[in-house]
Amino acid sequence: MKIIVLKFGGTSIGSIRRIKKVARIVKSYTKKYKVIILSSAMSGTTNKLIDMSKKISANFADNEYDTLVSAGEQISCSLLAGQLIENGIQARSLMAWQIPIITEGQHKHSRIKYIYKKRILKFLNTGGVPVIAGFQGINKDLKITTIGRGGTDASAIMFAKFFKADRCVIYTDVEGIFTTDPNKLKKAKKIKNISYEEMLEMASLGSKVMQPHSIQDARLNRINIEVKSSFLNKSGTLITKKKNIINNKIITGISSTENDSKITLLGVKDRPGIAASIFKPLSKNSINVDMVVQNISSNGKETDLTFTIKSYDLIKTKKIIKNNKFINFKKMIFDTNVSKVSIIGVGMVTTPGVTFRMFQALAKQKINIQVISTSEIKISVLIKKNKVTKAIKTLHKEFNLNK
Ligand code: ADP
Ligand code: ASP
Ligand code: MG
Repeated sequence: MKIIVLKFGGTSIGSIRRIKKVARIVKSYTKKYKVIILSSAMSGTTNKLIDMSKKISANFADNEYDTLVSAGEQISCSLLAGQLIENGIQARSLMAWQIPIITEGQHKHSRIKYIYKKRILKFLNTGGVPVIAGFQGINKDLKITTIGRGGTDASAIMFAKFFKADRCVIYTDVEGIFTTDPNKLKKAKKIKNISYEEMLEMASLGSKVMQPHSIQDARLNRINIEVKSSFLNKSGTLITKKKNIINNKIITGISSTENDSKITLLGVKDRPGIAASIFKPLSKNSINVDMVVQNISSNGKETDLTFTIKSYDLIKTKKIIKNNKFINFKKMIFDTNVSKVSIIGVGMVTTPGVTFRMFQALAKQKINIQVISTSEIKISVLIKKNKVTKAIKTLHKEFNLNK
């Protein structure tokens, strides 16, 4: 029998009623496959744990944070395993340290490096169904680590890789990957097949339906992912290699972000290397700078520089810039009322004029573009947060995604 990995997200196991439904889904696979389950925490649990840590300190120790926030998965896994046992399936919950799942990198943002297989294989061979905690691992110092919000997606992909699974099925609260968030735009359409490349861009640009690292790992290891609903028995979306996809659309999807901030430094004394002097200490502090524009100085001496970061890094960023002795500027202004809207599609590589069409469609709706960034298969614009819904609606229509 082949191995299959099933991942259940927070809403899918968000109540006892849902857990019972999940147990029935699991049962439907056990005749044909050896099943490995990866489970998230029940929806809301991880957020509650994080809120508690914040009440103790804004700088709550990273290793204790990981121990704390990984606790939610212990609850959901044991409940699901208990339900499966109740239904006559030989199940067992497993936390990362019991396997173990080895991670590397920093706390809060670790990556799975290795998964010990022997005991799980033995259990599978006796007809057992392991219910494994997603999102967590242990590092070489035996400390509990986590792999970033939404990390159970990445855990599932890594299990599919190490166990050479036939497939990885991601069960969630929507029917699959849509042209844009179906909870934000009713006209969003389910996509039948999407390439790793496009899904990676969509995920990185704000479509939280899949965690970006998980797609990167799936692409590297050529793991087919099926995303589908745990509520409705309907076909979902297949995430696969480009070669398997026929698509006549220029744009495949639209993504938007919710937590960007824009910083502008006015009157920066210009000299070769100034941008590096500004960004080096930010990168050293693990602050991710996203979009950047630097204006040409009108007098050849001073320039204005604008860039975006994640809003949770704003306080730290302001502090670092203020304390940077290698730069000179007149004023720093910031804006948390911004959002990045992106159109994504491999079709744009071969179609000229996509940028123009995007800008014109937004201009017609009087949506002002503040910053632009592009890559081969995506165009992103920074706009006012309160214009996001309108922008998505406009672009969805402009690029024929309503049909
Ligand atoms: P889970 O708890 O199952 O991991 P998430 O909340 O992480 O689920 O992801 C599912 C959510 O992703 C959906 O409820 C939906 O609002 C959101 N989403 C954002 N963009 C998209 C998209 N393009 N297609 C489908 N869902 C999307
Ligand atoms: N429980 C974790 C989170 O909420 C991991 C996950 O859901 O995938 O981020
Ligand atoms: Mg998720």
